[in-house]
Amino acid sequence: LEAKEEFSHKTLAMDVMRPRHNDPGLTTITQDSMSVEDIEAIINETTYSGFPVVISRESQRLVGFVLRRDLIISIESARKKQDGIVSTSRIYFTEHMPPQPPTSPSSLKLRAIMDLSPFTITDQTPMEIVVDIFRKLGLRQCLVTHNGRLLGIITKKDVLKHIAQMANQDPDSILFN
Ligand code: ADP
Repeated sequence: LEAKEEFSHKTLAMDVMRPRHNDPGLTTITQDSMSVEDIEAIINETTYSGFPVVISRESQRLVGFVLRRDLIISIESARKKQDGIVSTSRIYFTEHMPPQPPTSPSSLKLRAIMDLSPFTITDQTPMEIVVDIFRKLGLRQCLVTHNGRLLGIITKKDVLKHIAQMANQDPDSILFN
């Protein structure tokens, strides 16, 4: 029992978050540099329930979180009802429209569907605390950062899998792994 207690203390958010070490990276959306077709490609090529929105690929600074279903609904509706929205239209989550050449097609502002303050923890947070936060705040997902840079994501299902793994660990493997 004591060993298990100790083990659970040692598991950190970085051990549970996705992506894992060798997996492809986190799928993120940039706040003002992607087109309608870029985001449609992300929707078609992944099944994730949501995507962190970052300032830029290089900075990986988190600005919000957007749900897949809200993106699908908003883009579909804009393509149908909003004049000038085409595949090459820029999508932006910022307050103001990014500067663009005068010949560019209309841009699509999606700031309204973005969660502006998604819950965030650092990669060094013990999983015991993460589990507690998920329970107490009823989180669906939580983003993981290191020195302000977005590193990964932990979903409710990831937490449940982690809890199940902890419960199934045989005490010997805990001691010797
Ligand atoms: P669930 O965990 O309920 O299946 P998702 O389908 O959103 O929810 O996530 C599936 C897996 O992919 C989870 O392990 C999660 O941590 C990870 N994940 C979720 N969103 C992203 C993302 N945008 N980029 C990379 N991995 C993600």
